[in-house]
Amino acid sequence: MKNKIAIEGHFAIPETLGCSKVYFDDAVWPQFSKKIQDFMDIRLPEMDEYGIEVKVLSLNSPAIQSIWNRKEAVEVAKKANDVMAEAMAKKPDRFKGFAALPMQDPDAAIKELERCVKEYGCVGALVNGFSQIDSEGNYEYLDHEMYDEFWACVAELDVPFYLHPREPMKENIKTLKGQPWLEGAAWAFGVETATHALRLMGSGMFDKYPNIKIILGHLGEMLPFCIWRSSNRISKTDRGQKFEKPFTYYFANNFYVTTSGQFHTRSLIDTQMELGTDKILFAADFPFEDIKDACTWFDNAPISEHDRYKIGRQNSIDLFKLNLK
Ligand code: MN
Repeated sequence: MKNKIAIEGHFAIPETLGCSKVYFDDAVWPQFSKKIQDFMDIRLPEMDEYGIEVKVLSLNSPAIQSIWNRKEAVEVAKKANDVMAEAMAKKPDRFKGFAALPMQDPDAAIKELERCVKEYGCVGALVNGFSQIDSEGNYEYLDHEMYDEFWACVAELDVPFYLHPREPMKENIKTLKGQPWLEGAAWAFGVETATHALRLMGSGMFDKYPNIKIILGHLGEMLPFCIWRSSNRISKTDRGQKFEKPFTYYFANNFYVTTSGQFHTRSLIDTQMELGTDKILFAADFPFEDIKDACTWFDNAPISEHDRYKIGRQNSIDLFKLNLK
């Protein structure tokens, strides 16, 4: 398919590059580190080759969320967004952006989101899960009451918020002890991020701000397959829940998912059945996944051309209010 719009195109700046080193062997790291810091020389020709008209850029993970010094988190987020904005200004028809946000300081996060949306034309924010705050071992999830004004700002700006994975805190992944191959994208990312999404549903924030739109990568981090059971079990007993609607309602109304890193047709069709084709956006997860793998799969997946067009282009135009046909 030509003229695709691809979400989740990561980049890194020197201050955040080290976060991605853990996922690569020394032999491939030099090439990867070059790729993730590049915009014009590697990324753009590859977009041309595989039919990607527009890429929505975002910082790597966990990056800002793991900088527990608030002042430093604020500064690095600004720098990353400035670097991204420079690429967007050079190629406004090819690059859009999600703002990186210093969630360690909710007031600063509000200011940075407003700056990025109003000055740089960012189409939303991408945050890598929980943030470490003031010390390495102290962290908060985004359902915490300290984020109430932040969510009010997201609702007011009416821009989507991408909840992107990061590795769980060590104390929370004892179940993976002795099984390092299950860390990261192989398993831990999905469980961690799905749980975070459920925490947002349980906080009641979607009752308070019903227009908030959360994007999840990786075909919804397993939730399309599991949400009915969560919702059903919660409805059977009173566990002191304060939210007003079933989780299936929030998932259907407040969530979008992308195809990043899940180049598998049966999973895609299951997700279409659960959420509807209108809620699915094409994404690769560059450069952690191969653009060639993502595009070859998506362009040839046995779905209707109508669905391919919606997932590959139209849904992103609608959600991000892009000035494209
Ligand atoms: Mn990613």
